[in-house]
Amino acid sequence: MASEGGGGGRRGVSRREFLAAGLAVGAAAAAAPLLRLAVPAFSAGSGGEGDGLLYYEFFDITNDKDRLQYYGALGLVVEVDGRKLVANPLLPDRPIAYTVPADRDRFQLLPPGATEDFYARCIRCGLCYSACNMMGYNAIRLLGLGEGGFSRVGTPVVDRQWLYPCTLCMKCTEVCPTGALAEVPRTDVKMGVALIDPDLCWAWNSGDCKSCAKACPFGSEVFEFYFNEWGVHTRVRPDKCKGCGLCVVACPIGGAAIHVLPRDEYERRTRSYKNTGMSYEEYLRLIIETERKDPAKATIRSQVNTDYIQNVRGYVKEKIRT
Ligand code: SF4
Ligand code: SF4
Ligand code: SF4
Repeated sequence: MASEGGGGGRRGVSRREFLAAGLAVGAAAAAAPLLRLAVPAFSAGSGGEGDGLLYYEFFDITNDKDRLQYYGALGLVVEVDGRKLVANPLLPDRPIAYTVPADRDRFQLLPPGATEDFYARCIRCGLCYSACNMMGYNAIRLLGLGEGGFSRVGTPVVDRQWLYPCTLCMKCTEVCPTGALAEVPRTDVKMGVALIDPDLCWAWNSGDCKSCAKACPFGSEVFEFYFNEWGVHTRVRPDKCKGCGLCVVACPIGGAAIHVLPRDEYERRTRSYKNTGMSYEEYLRLIIETERKDPAKATIRSQVNTDYIQNVRGYVKEKIRT
């Protein structure tokens, strides 16, 4: 998606009016009886990739009478296995799915500079871990028994980016005695790839937030922005991202809207994003096209996601950098 301006001024009705209209619908919904919708059953495996939605969670309103009325009146309740879930306003026969918090969307990445034959070279000396610890970053930890098989015990991983991101100081590569971590320039690091969930991201839901981009050591080289009146839509260029995780810890959303994934997981996840059968790019385009062509639907989308962000996941207002 190329960076570009646009959106504003193309429509005859302002976004503020659409928000007001949305609130009016909400007021009407509060007085309306519960609307039971006949919706097709949602299969976790639908969409082709079939990972059981392991890394997603739903907006479950089974026991929330007010939201059942509100979202029911909007035609946005789907029933799955006896649970009542808020539907995705863009794909209303499916529940809206949010990436689980970063501590549950966790992968064991190798430290920067890891070579292709890393496990053959690493002698489990722990010097990389000590160097990282001495620097006060604590990004590297050593695997213990029962964490990835006996052959990996004592090898270093970076897997707590929401607390301890890698700062790319590269001290670990300087102390590694075997070259398992090669002394590469930090611009050549490829630990993983960051992926933003547009349904959780403040900037994809009518807000202005550039916290991740401002925390990234490579800034505009890595981040692209699409500015419209619905927010500063932000995305990461996968070919430029190093996987350090500084963006993860900077994100104001509870559990972070941006996570670092191993490259193969990134490829798998973006092929059929949230098991919709649409690629990540197609999903982002659908959001932007809806904002252009159907502002009422885009307003509902924004309201659903903002409700989830503010009232279920939580966010830290002070962390929002614009
Ligand atoms: S310093 Fe090098 S050899 Fe020692 S544990 Fe770290 S990666 Fe392995
Ligand atoms: S986007 Fe995030 S993970 Fe990628 S280089 Fe920037 S701060 Fe690091
Ligand atoms: S810091 Fe989080 S909420 Fe803000 S733009 Fe980045 S991913 Fe979105």
